[in-house]
Amino acid sequence: MHHFKYRGDELYCEDVSIEKIADAVGTPFYLYSAATLERHYRAFEDALKTTDHLICYSVKANSNLAILSQFARLGSGFDIVSGGELFRALKSGGDPKKIVFSGVGKTREEIREALAAGILMFNVESLQELHEIDSVAAAAGKTAPVAFRVNPDVDPKTHPYISTGLKQNKFGIPVVQALAAYRTAQSLPHVTPIGVDCHIGSQLTEIAPFVDALTRVKDLVAQLRDDGFEIRYLDLGGGLGITYDEEEPPHPTKYGRELIENTVGLGCTLILEPGRVIVGNAGIMVTRVLYTKQNLGKKFVIVDAGMNDLLRPSLYQAYHRLQAVRRRITEMVLADVVGPICESGDFLAQDREIQPYEKGDLMAVMSVGAYGFAMASNYNTRPRVPEVLVSDDRYYMIRRRETLAELIAAEEVPDFLRNP
Ligand SMILES: *Cc1c(COP(=O)(O)O)cnc(C)c1O
Repeated sequence: MHHFKYRGDELYCEDVSIEKIADAVGTPFYLYSAATLERHYRAFEDALKTTDHLICYSVKANSNLAILSQFARLGSGFDIVSGGELFRALKSGGDPKKIVFSGVGKTREEIREALAAGILMFNVESLQELHEIDSVAAAAGKTAPVAFRVNPDVDPKTHPYISTGLKQNKFGIPVVQALAAYRTAQSLPHVTPIGVDCHIGSQLTEIAPFVDALTRVKDLVAQLRDDGFEIRYLDLGGGLGITYDEEEPPHPTKYGRELIENTVGLGCTLILEPGRVIVGNAGIMVTRVLYTKQNLGKKFVIVDAGMNDLLRPSLYQAYHRLQAVRRRITEMVLADVVGPICESGDFLAQDREIQPYEKGDLMAVMSVGAYGFAMASNYNTRPRVPEVLVSDDRYYMIRRRETLAELIAAEEVPDFLRNP
């Protein structure tokens, strides 16, 4: 459920006309609905309310400060994967005691910053990383709380680029090596194992892989307890999918119920790291048709947003629904919707049934709140587009359009290349 709906034939975000925003801020831009963000967060929170839990919103899905601030106010913790995300989480008023730090390549500097902030725990992905954390913590005179990210070797049945819990993926340590790893941690003076972590992939539309993974990590928790470890946190990562097209992912309520049923009596605080399921359908991208053309029987609609603004179609062959900001009830046509970037991979949709768009029309690219703006780049020297947040009948610029001067601000031409 989201708050992007037609009133008559005009698309609105909550109580604001999208055309009005486009006229004011220009195109393309990302547009989020505060009511939708809150609704999705609360649905997740409600689904888990009968069990001891902590939601750590996955910052990488959408890291705008305004959105992080909204989640922090709602009581969310954060799952971070870099020092940059730590910086954002803290700037947004995030409680360090609710921050978990994931990722296969944490640097000493990032570890130092996270320790100084006093985060809840490090999700450790290798023995070398464990030793690094121990050494940084020793230098800081601290003890680092850790969990190992274990790889349960289950197939999440999603796109290969976003499946992470198979034995051939780079993430975590094999579950069969976990006990030995925890014993190593026990022997180091500046780390304390307090949890077990796993994250098997993203955009999962079935519950079975989550339950399979949970079953495997639960066995590990039992084993560790027998071995004398005090495991207080069970982190099951994120990954719950959303409807982009025809997918029918389980509702958070059902997902929550399954997790709760499968963790009764375990005595762990359940940590979840949802990203996409909370922000995905709470954001759209609005783009304007620049031109249309027909090349030997193939129709193209050329819009002002490209793969640098929204990478998902090019990177993952992702499907995003397209909706006319002003819809006309006419016969549909088959066309490719493409951007201005000099790459054939630069498309928003291929061979798609759409209304016959005309030059100047506005198009809404749906479900881009997750991994949309967050993956945007400046390729082709294109300034990153604005982000706008609607709440009821008002809209707020939460990121203005980048300027050309900002794009070159960090660059320098050495003396020998300067014109005389
Ligand atoms: C990306 C990621 C998430 C969030 O995944 P979603 O599919 O967006 O829910 C959670 N945890 C970790 C470790 C991740 O890398």
